Amino acid sequence: MPEDVSMTDAGEVETFAFQAEIAQLMSLIINTFYSNKEIFIRELISNSSDALDKIRYESLTDPSKLDTCKELFIKIVPNKNDRTLTILDSGIGMTKADLVNNLGTIAKSGTKAFMEALQAGADISMIGQFGVGFYSAYLVADKVIVISKHNDDEQYLWESSAGGSFTVRPDNGEPIGRGTKIILHIKEDQTEYLEESKIKEIVKKHSQFIGYPIKLVVEKERDKELSEDEEEEEEKKEEEKAEDDKPKIEDVGEDEEEDKPKEEKKKKKKTIKEKYTEDEELNKTKPIWTRNPDDITQEEYGEFYKSLTNDWEDHLAVKHFSVEGQLEFRALLFIPRRAPFDLFENKKRKNNIKLYVRRVFIMDNCEDLIPEYLNFIKGVVDSEDLPLNISREMLQQNKILKVIRKNLVKKCLELFEELSEDKENYKKCYEQFSKNLKLGIHEDSQNRKKLSELLRYHTSASGDEMCSLKDYVGRMKENQKHVYYITGESREQVANSSFVERVKKRGFEVVYMTEPIDEYVVQQLKEFDGKQLVSVTKEGLELPEDEDEKKKREEDKAKFESLCKVMKDILDKKVEKVVVSNRLVDSPCCIVTSQYGWTANMERIMKAQALRDTSTMGYMAAKKHLEINPDHPIMENLRQKAEADKHDKSVKDLVMLLFETALLSSGFALEDPQVHASRIYRMIKLGLGFDDEDTSNAEDEKMDMEVPTLEGDSEEASRMEEVD
Ligand code: ADP
Ligand code: MG
Repeated sequence: MPEDVSMTDAGEVETFAFQAEIAQLMSLIINTFYSNKEIFIRELISNSSDALDKIRYESLTDPSKLDTCKELFIKIVPNKNDRTLTILDSGIGMTKADLVNNLGTIAKSGTKAFMEALQAGADISMIGQFGVGFYSAYLVADKVIVISKHNDDEQYLWESSAGGSFTVRPDNGEPIGRGTKIILHIKEDQTEYLEESKIKEIVKKHSQFIGYPIKLVVEKERDKELSEDEEEEEEKKEEEKAEDDKPKIEDVGEDEEEDKPKEEKKKKKKTIKEKYTEDEELNKTKPIWTRNPDDITQEEYGEFYKSLTNDWEDHLAVKHFSVEGQLEFRALLFIPRRAPFDLFENKKRKNNIKLYVRRVFIMDNCEDLIPEYLNFIKGVVDSEDLPLNISREMLQQNKILKVIRKNLVKKCLELFEELSEDKENYKKCYEQFSKNLKLGIHEDSQNRKKLSELLRYHTSASGDEMCSLKDYVGRMKENQKHVYYITGESREQVANSSFVERVKKRGFEVVYMTEPIDEYVVQQLKEFDGKQLVSVTKEGLELPEDEDEKKKREEDKAKFESLCKVMKDILDKKVEKVVVSNRLVDSPCCIVTSQYGWTANMERIMKAQALRDTSTMGYMAAKKHLEINPDHPIMENLRQKAEADKHDKSVKDLVMLLFETALLSSGFALEDPQVHASRIYRMIKLGLGFDDEDTSNAEDEKMDMEVPTLEGDSEEASRMEEVD
């Protein structure tokens, strides 16, 4: 809704307030000292190019959409007299509603993200990546006018000198047919952007690969032959004007040139120099992907990448290839240096792979061209075979597209593989996109094997560097059959986990998987290089053992059988079973999960997903097994105590305490931490050697009352125990 409405001859002028964050961004742009202002041209041209893409796409199915203007172009008009720079395009244009919504009232997620990035030291030139490039106009202009004509609406004029508001009104000025005309009133100290040479330089630098002609209106001079009459008139005029013009001419340093025609006139008196304007096309280079890769420099790829993506940095890696045979296409794929700020937020990201058919742009953001896990790859695909008037719906079933997609995935994997040979660069890539590769393992069964070779993990033997599973397999012990891994919250946590103890002590290496998505990886990735992946936190972990070890284990099993039974009775439904462990060294016991349920880590992740359907929690929640360490003095002591008296109350108490502590150290959350805390306090009291009879403290008594009774204990019994 407009804030204010007034009338002029042309009609209603509506005043709108900029959405608060946008207003904030604009004043930041205006007030921040920043020298690399030239990027505003790139941003406005990029918007024009997007708008042209849109109308061309619409015209593929309805050619009459181009009736309002057939030619697709971008035009730049500098005007030193008015101190304006105009950028005009014959793109799709904006309706009145578009002007109001797109240029000021609807904030994008990028608005805030960009301001935060700036605060964190980002550069203003990154603006395009955050989807707020338009406002870069205010780097050089104190007033911006946008005149736009969309096929579905009249011509409207948007205007703002910042300061929190803008106006929109019907425009009765010169009709533009279709498209958008942006008039920048250049600030006094920014007039260099009105110079032809400067504009040419900037367009060449940032926008040479735009797929539509960018025309600069340039001033030229030519000889003009004069008739006798004209000659006389011209002479009179010259004399009259000479005085006024002189200072101006000196200003632009054209004295010499101006002198010449006068001399000539004296001799021939036939011709004069006439000023006229001409359109000069600034981006005549043919599409880079159609050229021979051998002739293209890395700089050119870099420039193309930047103009394609609005990125401010070069790409990390590039693959340029063509496929011939039954089907023909060319493609250029890039891996960026960084993941975009909203990589996993925004499912419908644009500007990923642009689809061309025989050099004609068809669409960007073509979802069927590349699987979701590769949505960070940027580039272009140019097909020789697809029909020009293909629609999004048709593409979904298109066989040609399926083949292209398969090839693109293959080439991406090749690109990663090549990159992985360069350790430093691969590390950078992996830091940014490991989640995508892992998502790929989960989703792309056909390429799972290839993708698994690209994974990198810290392990108990890898030190500070990450290593591949291939490295792991290369280091495996002779008698080792499996690849051991643990999932958890952080490297420190898993490295110190009791599960890793024995495995490490026995000389086996453990892979540390500490990203939430790793849980999904291991659901799909069952083996690597023929070696089964085995979780050290799940039941049934069998470490290779020699005869002596086997014998000892049998003995332990027999020895602790009755304790296991006592413990299972006490813990009841809290655990599936209680067994003797072969994976513990220093800890008395641990909780492992069954082969097919969630791990503790997965349970943590699922609980953290607040919006998920809680009904799955019940049956998927980790099925817990308590494993006890037969070599641990606590267990041995407990065994003796239980054998002496099965119904000893302190056995029950200790078993509960051990169980809850094992839950914690195995990475589970306690359902009722208060109960656990109360048990610990009671232990502390015992440790300090006083019982409740000694304290007349009311607070303390109250606390005791609140301590829930232990499993199966009657209130009386537990009171008695305390008195004991
Ligand atoms: P982005 O280009 O990333 O969407 P911008 O801030 O550069 O963000 O532009 C905002 C929006 O304004 C665009 O999405 C588009 O809808 C509209 N717009 C800007 N320039 C033009 C133009 N020349 N023609 C049509 N629409 C435009
Ligand atoms: Mg833009």
